[in-house]
Parts: sequence; structure tokens; C-alpha cells
Amino acid sequence: MIGIKLTNRQDEILKIVKESGPITGKQIAEKLSLTRAALRPDLAILTMAGNLDARPRVGYFYNHKRDGKRHAENFLHQKVADYKAHPIVVEKSTSVYDAIVQLFLEDVGTLYAVDGLGHLAGVISRKDLLRTAIGSNNLHELPVSVIMTRMPNIITIEPQETLLQAAKKLIENHIDSLPVVKEVENQRNTYLLVGRITKTTITRAYLEIMDEKSG
Ligand code: ADP
Repeated sequence: MIGIKLTNRQDEILKIVKESGPITGKQIAEKLSLTRAALRPDLAILTMAGNLDARPRVGYFYNHKRDGKRHAENFLHQKVADYKAHPIVVEKSTSVYDAIVQLFLEDVGTLYAVDGLGHLAGVISRKDLLRTAIGSNNLHELPVSVIMTRMPNIITIEPQETLLQAAKKLIENHIDSLPVVKEVENQRNTYLLVGRITKTTITRAYLEIMDEKSG
């Protein structure tokens, strides 16, 4: 697919075809008070780029499928702030046992641990808990702070970043979730938790946007 920036005239042509298609080149030219020859390069560009379909002896059609593709491209440029879910948070002194219970109650794959000031301190994933559960018989006593992935090793994302940036961080770091954070002023690597982005969040955002546009 070719991504091009359309000229005003090309936008006008698309509008006409959307409203009146199928429509011949001659009819489009008449509506724009142009000659067919003057219009030909624009029609060629729009057809090559996939915005329009042309059928001999019928005319030009608007390509709705192309709309879907364009929205698919735009979807990843949406802001994290608009799609983040609530973070599921435990105190870092919480026992591994209670964290496992929390994971089931909240129906999530990852918990975030905070310190006494409410700042992000760690990430506890399903596998962290499973690993501990098969390796320790003291789950009621063991705090999650011992097993979690800690700051400054946590990969975070900020609300103004895009879903594309979130998707890249998830894939490149082989993780399922990203804490959405705001850095505490003048304190490097100290974050307040404001949400979470998971692979599910991104898939759901994709479905929502595609459904909206096709509906
Ligand atoms: P699972 O354990 O279910 O496979 P993940 O793939 O998300 O879930 O986690 C794999 C490992 O990466 C775990 O040890 C976890 O603590 C760590 N991890 C998860 N999310 C992050 C993150 N945002 N930043 C740093 N480490 C993370």
C-alpha cells in the first residue's frame, strides 16, 4: 500500500466519488469544472494509491477497505493515556501467598509493587510467582520485594507516549505489561503509578478502533 499526502483537489475527488460513485471520469471532471485530461493524473494517483477502484465502462468506486487500512495505521499513534487500564497494586511487603490470591481475584497476569510513599518499586509477573511457588514452602512469610523485578530495571511508559511505543517496548523486552507512570518532579527513577498497558489493552484498542470505523 502506498501512503501519500493528498492534494486539495484529490481530496475533493475522493469526496465526490464517496458520495456519487460509481461515477465516470467525465462526470467527476464536470463537477469540478475541469477537463478530463486535467483530471487524469489525479485519478491515476488515487487509483494507484488504492483510494479508488476503477472498473471499465462503470467508473470509479471509493475503496472502503483502504479506509480500514488507514485506521489500522493510525491506531498505533493513539495515546497511552486514552487506553491505559487500572494498575493492580500491592505493597512491597505483601506476602507471595497474598500476591497470588490477588492475581486470581483481580484476574490479571502482573502486579505492581509500591513502597511506603506509593512509588513504583517492582513488577511481579505470573512466572515470578510460579517460580517462587515451586521453589519455596514459605509463601506466607516471603515478601514480594524479594522476588520482584525492581527499579531501575523496570520498563515503564508515560501517558503521552503512543500505543506504538508501548507495543515496541512490550515486544523488544519480551514482557506482557508496562506500568504507566509519571515521574516525581526532581527525583530521577521515582515514579507514581497511573495505569498499565498490556498486550490485551493493545489488542482491545485495536478492536475498538476497527469496530468503530467499520460500524
Ligand atoms: P510472565 O511471567 O507471565 O511471562 P512477563 O513476560 O511480563 O510475564 O514477565 C517476564 C519477566 O519480566 C518477569 O520476571 C517479570 O518480573 C519481568 N517483567 C514484567 N514486566 C516488566 C516490566 N515492565 N519491566 C521490567 N521487567 C518486567
